[in-house]
Amino acid sequence: MPIFEYQCPQCGFVNEVLVPTANVSAPACPKCGQADTHKRFSSFAAVVKNPAAGDSKCHTCPSAGGCPHSHA
Ligand SMILES: [Zn+2]
Repeated sequence: MPIFEYQCPQCGFVNEVLVPTANVSAPACPKCGQADTHKRFSSFAAVVKNPAAGDSKCHTCPSAGGCPHSHA
């Protein structure tokens, strides 16, 4: 069952919600009552986006130091 995070644009509170389907409407902010919360994907999706994070070695050129590629 996926976990979605809904961030309140008004107070910034992040509400983690277990949802049985992806077709539920966003819940109102439990802190301030703002109904228009923004859905974000939960942390498990954020982990997948860059598995090489923290690896400073360049994957394009073989030399680790002084390569011309941007590592940002
Ligand atoms: Zn709020």
